[in-house]
Amino acid sequence: MWAGLGRGMIRLHVPQPLAATAPVAPTLDQSRYLTQVMRLKVGDELLVFNGRDGEWRASVAEVLKKGVILRAEDLVRPQVHGPDLELIVAVVKKARVETIVEKAAELGARRVRLVLTKRTNADRIRLDRLDAIAEEAAEQTGRMDVPVVDDPVRLDALLDGWEAGRRLMFCDETGGAPAMTALQPSPNGEGETPAKWSILIGPEGGFSPEEGERLRSLPFTTAVSLGPRILRADTAAIAAMTLWQAAIGDWDR
Ligand code: SAM
Repeated sequence: MWAGLGRGMIRLHVPQPLAATAPVAPTLDQSRYLTQVMRLKVGDELLVFNGRDGEWRASVAEVLKKGVILRAEDLVRPQVHGPDLELIVAVVKKARVETIVEKAAELGARRVRLVLTKRTNADRIRLDRLDAIAEEAAEQTGRMDVPVVDDPVRLDALLDGWEAGRRLMFCDETGGAPAMTALQPSPNGEGETPAKWSILIGPEGGFSPEEGERLRSLPFTTAVSLGPRILRADTAAIAAMTLWQAAIGDWDR
């Protein structure tokens, strides 16, 4: 839930289909936020989106005990999705995972996949809390979808089921190629820059030598260095997504 910087309008992510005059029932939490925090009354306006039907101007139609009823009025922006970027991150301390999910939403990742690696020492992950963080960050950034956050899986299993045509930007602190060079399309124009990418960030203890070896040997891997200093996992995730968006993503649009 968020008051729009610059445009001054609250932006709310809602699950319901959006169309002209469609009734929209935010959750009880969202309703409380609108009426008790933002003091919205019948007739007041806000923006709603559901990740499918674009961004709509909506008005408060009713304020009931069981929650607010909104009415979708008109389409403000047709649905667009950012580039097909995923962030794959080894589970680290809870606070850092929460920061990583928030930044992934801000930096345009469509999906955050949590992985367990040989050296993962993880706190218990509350997916509902990570979903709420992703939703709030999405509302704040003006994007019209919310990144999906997946339950943790083993890195090996994720690599075994790798999606065809997707490229892996493996952040390798033991010595990948300079990121900006590695992400540039080949100078002789050979080979299109793949449209689907995943960025992989390791745990605080790094990847095990076997995991590193397997990752570097895979045909879809681009191993990159994020510079001479060892970055913490959350810093590395932010740096890698920034470089990817600047080199391949939508920052030139
Ligand atoms: N193993 C490291 C160590 O020696 O303590 C620390 C791992 S680092 C905290 C966590 C992850 O961030 C790494 O597995 C890697 O994916 C990424 N990372 C950190 N610094 C990096 C760098 N300079 N280049 C590439 N990746 C980096």
